[in-house]
Amino acid sequence: MSGKDPELSQLGDELSRARAAYTEAKLVTDGAKEHLNATGDQIQEYNVQIADLKKSVDLEYDQMRALKAEGDREGAEEHRRSAQALQEALSAKYEEKKQCFARLDEARAAFNVALDGQKALRDEMQAAWDKFNQRLEYLKAQNEIERAKWLETTCKECGKKIRYHKDRKKAPVLCRECYEKDKVNWEDRQCARCGADFRININWEHIPSICPDCRKKLAEEKERRAMQERDEENQTAPEERVS
Ligand SMILES: [Zn+2]
Ligand SMILES: [Zn+2]
Repeated sequence: MSGKDPELSQLGDELSRARAAYTEAKLVTDGAKEHLNATGDQIQEYNVQIADLKKSVDLEYDQMRALKAEGDREGAEEHRRSAQALQEALSAKYEEKKQCFARLDEARAAFNVALDGQKALRDEMQAAWDKFNQRLEYLKAQNEIERAKWLETTCKECGKKIRYHKDRKKAPVLCRECYEKDKVNWEDRQCARCGADFRININWEHIPSICPDCRKKLAEEKERRAMQERDEENQTAPEERVS
């Protein structure tokens, strides 16, 4: 049934396309999400590096102050320069982190665009599903109605099931195959009474010698005669009727 309805197969094709488009969009979203997460991880890495650098800067200044207190001016100066260099490295890290934040914004925007696209395609896929199911339900209902129009009987000859339309006046006796085979059993005969041609089946138990029309007429005549006889009897012997 589903394979035969062109509208259903067209809706099936549309559904397949909508699913493929959705699957592709989901891959794009997954990719964008992965990129977004990776960029977020980079920010975390910068935070760790910045915290380490800050610690190192503090350490250098601590050592500088300790040496200064001890009167080691040269040593103190060395740690001051070292602290300054680390401070510069720290500024560079801050700058890198800022740029990374810009990339994170871009990645987030790209992810949102991909997600919106995916949602739109998911809605389209759902709509395609609904249309497909609606058609399927409609066809099922039609099928039920059609099925209710058919009756079943069995072939008198081979016992095979025969389906026939309920509007048919008489249930068929033979299936198609047996009906075809039975065709050779039919012969033309000439009516012994009126000379008209009529068909008989050689397998019939009683093969008539007169045509169906004459048979009908004879039966009617017989009936009429019987009625006449009854009437005559009634007229000649009314007293017998009373008892
Ligand atoms: Zn049969
Ligand atoms: Zn006849």
